[in-house]
Amino acid sequence: QLTGKRAIITGSNSGIGLGVAEELARAGADVVLNSFTDRPEDHALAAELGARHGVQARYIAADMSDAEACRALVSKAGGCDILVNNAGIQHVAPVEDFPIDKWNQILAINLSSAFHTTAAALPGMRAAGWGRIVNIASAHGLTASPFKSAYIAAKHGVVGLSKTVALETAGQGITCNAICPGYVLTPLVEAQIPDQMKVHNMDRDTVIREVMLLRQPSRQFATVEQIGGTVVYLCSPFADQVTGTTISVDGGWTAM
Ligand code: NAD
Repeated sequence: QLTGKRAIITGSNSGIGLGVAEELARAGADVVLNSFTDRPEDHALAAELGARHGVQARYIAADMSDAEACRALVSKAGGCDILVNNAGIQHVAPVEDFPIDKWNQILAINLSSAFHTTAAALPGMRAAGWGRIVNIASAHGLTASPFKSAYIAAKHGVVGLSKTVALETAGQGITCNAICPGYVLTPLVEAQIPDQMKVHNMDRDTVIREVMLLRQPSRQFATVEQIGGTVVYLCSPFADQVTGTTISVDGGWTAM
């Protein structure tokens, strides 16, 4: 249903971004994958994904902590119909010990990159009379936890940016929304499970239920396919009037 649409997904050589690219390609969109590395395997990943779904797929390296690189990503791609701002990093420390460079880097990658790519993508979307901007925020865009000041400030910022862009584009065929995932089973999270099992001396299912998913009432991870499917829904005609809002995919986290 997205045949002929071009999607850029930032931070998409692993995890949620790759899952979103997969579902958009499955729905027929041409996809541009991105991260800050420029390795043969990054380009091979895009080629393989494109071949599997019969769509055009490219990998364009760009560092989302760099304002000019964010804007250049959009121009190198030739503009886009669908923009998914997904690149993100985390650092955990109390406010008074939080390294200044980490604060600046997290704000740049998790928040400012979405401002820059959106600014670069909007003129083309306006000219086309159609566009979808989906920002991958977090349950931490709506609630807080200690020691994650930069991440939580950035993710709350992404929610605010999404609402503002929605108001500036309302009625123009363009929507902008934020998806707020709870804990998602990515390769990074999967890799933490054996360590957590050892530390807590628990089996896999128990450590997932009782330790990792303590704040997720469903006690089940969300999956990258579910986040990808939510992006595809937001790109469908069913979501034409869904703009300036958040969609939680968090097993009930933010209902508590
Ligand atoms: P991940 O580490 O697998 O993916 C992050 C992606 O961003 C990677 O592709 C990485 O290469 C890329 N990236 C990092 N720094 C970059 C930079 N400077 N320039 C360009 N790309 C860069 O993690 P993930 O869990 O897939 O996270 C993706 C997004 O989802 C993030 O914004 C994260 O905050 C958000 N999120 C994740 C979870 C979760 O439980 N995994 C929950 C809520 C929100």
